[in-house]
Amino acid sequence: MKFDIKEEDLIIKPYKSTGSIQVREQKGAYQKIRRLLSWLLIITFILIPFIQYSGQQAVLLDIENQQFRFFSVTFWPQDFILLASVFMAGAFALFFVTSWLGRVWCGYVCPQTVWTLAYIWVEHRIEGTRNQRIALDKQKHSFAKLQKKFVKHFIWLLMSVVSASTFISYFIPASSLYSDIMQLNCTGLVTFWLCFFTLCTYGNAGWLREKVCIDMCPYARFQSAMFDKNTLLVAYDKERGENRAPRKLKDDPKQLGLGDCVDCNLCVEVCPTGIDIRNGMQYECINCGLCVDACDETMSRFNYQKGLISYTSEQQLFGQKAKGLNVKVLTYGVITAVIFIATSFWINSRVPLETSILRDRNALYRVNYLGVVENTYTLKVLNKTQQALHYKISVQGLEYSNVTLPKNLLIAPGTMREIPITISIDGQTLHESITDFSFNIQAIEQPNISLQKATMFYRGSNSEYAG
Ligand code: SF4
Ligand code: SF4
Repeated sequence: MKFDIKEEDLIIKPYKSTGSIQVREQKGAYQKIRRLLSWLLIITFILIPFIQYSGQQAVLLDIENQQFRFFSVTFWPQDFILLASVFMAGAFALFFVTSWLGRVWCGYVCPQTVWTLAYIWVEHRIEGTRNQRIALDKQKHSFAKLQKKFVKHFIWLLMSVVSASTFISYFIPASSLYSDIMQLNCTGLVTFWLCFFTLCTYGNAGWLREKVCIDMCPYARFQSAMFDKNTLLVAYDKERGENRAPRKLKDDPKQLGLGDCVDCNLCVEVCPTGIDIRNGMQYECINCGLCVDACDETMSRFNYQKGLISYTSEQQLFGQKAKGLNVKVLTYGVITAVIFIATSFWINSRVPLETSILRDRNALYRVNYLGVVENTYTLKVLNKTQQALHYKISVQGLEYSNVTLPKNLLIAPGTMREIPITISIDGQTLHESITDFSFNIQAIEQPNISLQKATMFYRGSNSEYAG
């Protein structure tokens, strides 16, 4: 993929603010898709914390209790390798989509884009169209101007508070969080995070907007590594568009020696990153398609064929036939599918039970005057389900003479219990100084939840039993 990089672009210059970009509101097919997706994402984001499963919040990253609840599955710190695998699958899915469809993630579903466009929508409703907003910003301070600015920032802040509290409700149960907020009874820590995320949302979506995409987002920097000649991108058809110039509706462009671009500048005015796509592909472009909608509208007005700016590929731009998915895209797709399937299988086959064994630190074994050997263990059992379960514990692979094992051990959901166990064996009956055996732990209500934990029984040297 070729970017239009000029020599001066390679010189690192100190950061210079480009000022705020006033985006023109645009209607069209791609805008419709994005609006629909934005609503869907915002509503899903707000509603998920309210979904209940077995009397508990279905999706909760409970930091205090160190667990991540996702419907019937609970992940514990020991399971974070699984989450790493989910993130890896997500990363490959992003590579797959980007190498195939370009930066559609940025243009359609990235939270920064979704929130920014929602804030711009509010701005448009309060301060008016792009031209009215530019005029308002240039006006001297007046009561009417202050009133509009105040209402806009107040609504933005309200949206930020809702967004921040929704985000926090993924970490603190929504029922208690919202009741604490209503009663102004939040702890200092919750108040801090609420203010922090409110300010982040307000700052990012209200003020920084496209600057986050252009100057802060690392994804914009490495996306080109995934592009190839078949990647879908938004591009201007220079051959068809040039020479550009304004004209009247009835003018014949051929007679005037003009191309189809009427230089209406709409493609620039609607662009949320403020670029002119007619200058070629630029890394600031987030593939949102707003300029496609704007240009199609102009083309219709002039009765020209639509698609002067369109979703296309470099291959198509040079008049070649579009190819299907190439090897690179297919490889990303296959890797994504394999990781997803393997992770789902892994999660499905995972036993919601964790055990560990600690031996007595003071003595590996004890021998009494009758020659009976004792080994002491602390068995830790963690119930990783969301219900209280009874467990039975048994010993396998060891002929013991005396041991007291719990037959009906009740463990609350998400709780670990420590069980001290002492096994006694007549030392004469053991032929080896170390005997391997295992503890079997099984849930009584759900026998498929069971684990075997291997350990060792120490007898000591033969001399201790001589005579
Ligand atoms: S150039 Fe077009 S597709 Fe790219 S960011 Fe601007 S409006 Fe969106
Ligand atoms: S919207 Fe289309 S016609 Fe208007 S300036 Fe942009 S490319 Fe030219």
